[in-house]
Amino acid sequence: MTDLPKVELHLHLEGAAPPAFIRGLAKEKKADIGGIFDERGNYKYKDFWDFLKVYEAATSVLTSPEDYARLTLAVLEESAASGVVYSETFLSPDFCGGRDVGAWREYLHAMREAADRAERDMGITLRGIITCIRHFGPDKARETALCAAETAGDWIVGFGIAGDEKVGKPRDYLWSFDCAREAGLRLTAHAGEWGGPDSVRDAVRDLGVERIGHGVRAIEDLALVDELAEKGIVLEVCPGSNIALGIYPGWRQHPIGELHRRGVRVTISTDDPPFFHTTMAREYDRLNAAFDWDEGVFDGIARTSLDAAFCDGDTRERIRKKLEARNA
Ligand SMILES: [Zn+2]
Repeated sequence: MTDLPKVELHLHLEGAAPPAFIRGLAKEKKADIGGIFDERGNYKYKDFWDFLKVYEAATSVLTSPEDYARLTLAVLEESAASGVVYSETFLSPDFCGGRDVGAWREYLHAMREAADRAERDMGITLRGIITCIRHFGPDKARETALCAAETAGDWIVGFGIAGDEKVGKPRDYLWSFDCAREAGLRLTAHAGEWGGPDSVRDAVRDLGVERIGHGVRAIEDLALVDELAEKGIVLEVCPGSNIALGIYPGWRQHPIGELHRRGVRVTISTDDPPFFHTTMAREYDRLNAAFDWDEGVFDGIARTSLDAAFCDGDTRERIRKKLEARNA
C-alpha cells in the first residue's frame, strides 16, 4: 500500500518528529530529555496525559525557526516515504515564539521555505492549520487566533483546537474560532476522541467546524452518525493513534469501518506517528487487513480527503492530477 498516493489531513508537526531527530537536537543543545525515550530509542509514555507531557518535553528542544525548518524537512521525508502527496499539519504559535505575532512570522517563514524545498525535492505539498491548545485555556487561544488571522493566506489555510478534550467546552473558544473564520480560515476541532458523542455535537453546533479531528466516538450515537453523514462533516480518523492510546482494543474493533459503511466522510491520518509506532503506509496495511478494504476503497478515501483539504482550488487540482495519474 506504500505506492498508493495518499492525502493526510491530521498531523501534528511536533508529534511527527522522528525520535532520532529530537535526540540529535537535544544533544546539540545539551538538553537532558533522556527520560522520555525507552531503551530502543522510541518515545515512552503511560497514557494520554503522560503522552501530553512527553510531547511537551520533546517539543522543548525545538527553540528556533531553524529547528522548525529542519523538523519540517524530517517530517515530510517520512510522509513522502509512505506515499503521501499532500499533507496538512497542525502548527501551534504556543510552541513557536510564545504566541508573539512577530516571532510566529519568523517561524512560519522558516517552515514554509523548508516545505517549498520538500515540494521541489520530494513532490509532497504541505499546508498549515494553526491550532490553539485546549488545556492552555481560552485567553491563550485568543492570542493564537490573532497569530492565525495575521498569517492566514495560501499556506496557513485553517484553524483548529487540540490538547486535552476534558478541559472546558468548545463554546469557551468561540471568540477564537470566529476570529479565524473572519480571517478566511477553514475550521476543524478535536472532539469525540476522549469525549463522547456530545463533544462532537458541541463542536459542530457551537464552533461551526466542517471537519472533526477523530470524531470516532460518534459511533456511540447512531442519530449523530446519520447527522454527520447528512451534513457531510469530515472525520479526520487516526485509527493507529486510537488503538495505541487504548480507546479501542484492536483494528477490527475500530469504528472507522462502520462509520464508512454508514456514509460518513472518513479520512485516514497518523496524528503523531512515531508516538504511535505508525506511518500512513502502515495505517493502510492494517485497515486492509482488518476490513478487507481494497485499492478502490482507499482511492475513494484519498479523493474524500482531497475534497476536504483546506487548500485553494489550484492546489487541489494539481494534487488531483497526482491521484488520477496513479489510476490512469
Ligand atoms: Zn490530533
